[in-house]
Amino acid sequence: MAGDVHRYKVGDIEVTVLTDGFRMVPVDGNYLSNAGVDDLQKALAAAGQPTDKMKNTYAPIVLSTGGKRVLFDTGNGEAAAAQSKGERGTLNANLAAAGIDRSAIDVVVISHFHADHVNGLLMADGGRAFPKAEILVPENEWKFWMDDGEMSRASKGRMTELFANNRRVFDALGRKVTTYAWDKEIVPGVTAVGTPGHSIGHTSFIVASGGKKLFVQSDVCNNVAVFAPYPDWHGFFDQDPPKAAATRRKVYDMLVTEKLPVQGYHFPFPALARIEKQGGGYRVNVMSSL
Ligand SMILES: [Zn+2]
Repeated sequence: MAGDVHRYKVGDIEVTVLTDGFRMVPVDGNYLSNAGVDDLQKALAAAGQPTDKMKNTYAPIVLSTGGKRVLFDTGNGEAAAAQSKGERGTLNANLAAAGIDRSAIDVVVISHFHADHVNGLLMADGGRAFPKAEILVPENEWKFWMDDGEMSRASKGRMTELFANNRRVFDALGRKVTTYAWDKEIVPGVTAVGTPGHSIGHTSFIVASGGKKLFVQSDVCNNVAVFAPYPDWHGFFDQDPPKAAATRRKVYDMLVTEKLPVQGYHFPFPALARIEKQGGGYRVNVMSSL
């Protein structure tokens, strides 16, 4: 997966799309909580995709804005590259292939605290992957995952594992982060937008420059073959599934109405798309330029 790099501009801001590889996800009864495996298989078949396994891809981006290099989300990390034999955790290799020195990244913006977004903050040996970077995190996401009371009340399994993983990652960084609030400009031309449901503090971004706009959705919609046509389906990875579904509809209705292009972390590369209404849901049309 090395070498996948895609560049385009939003006004004066340059967007570089990279890939952190992929993971094959089994098609089974665990993936959706309010629809069956047969429904899931039908949706995949309708999109021309295999029905036994789904490919989950990761597309972090770097913005060049205001003289700074800003990385949005960090992928699965180099430890995952070794474990997965190079299937994922390839962001650092792809940054190098794009001519971007990871030690020259000025700012890292985290959208939410799931492992495929934060684990790349660390090298395999636990050292900092972006030694010079200020690390910006959503204030409500930080508050939730760093709260010992919330951790003690977490349901066993995915939630306790996420708490442990977030403590591991951010403790290795000495918990040195800068928190940001929604509806504020966090780096030049980029405003944080609250899109909760996937996690408590899940955040998207509006990039605006020279009269042009781009919506960076993070994980508002995961697999586009599944959650675009069926936005009300509940994925196992959504912390508050009804809220995630409501957010998905609200955001996608807005993208359709305002004709805004959207960059999606789990969209197929280059992960840039326009949304249209289709049936009771939406269609994600992936494209290569604005
Ligand atoms: Zn994700």
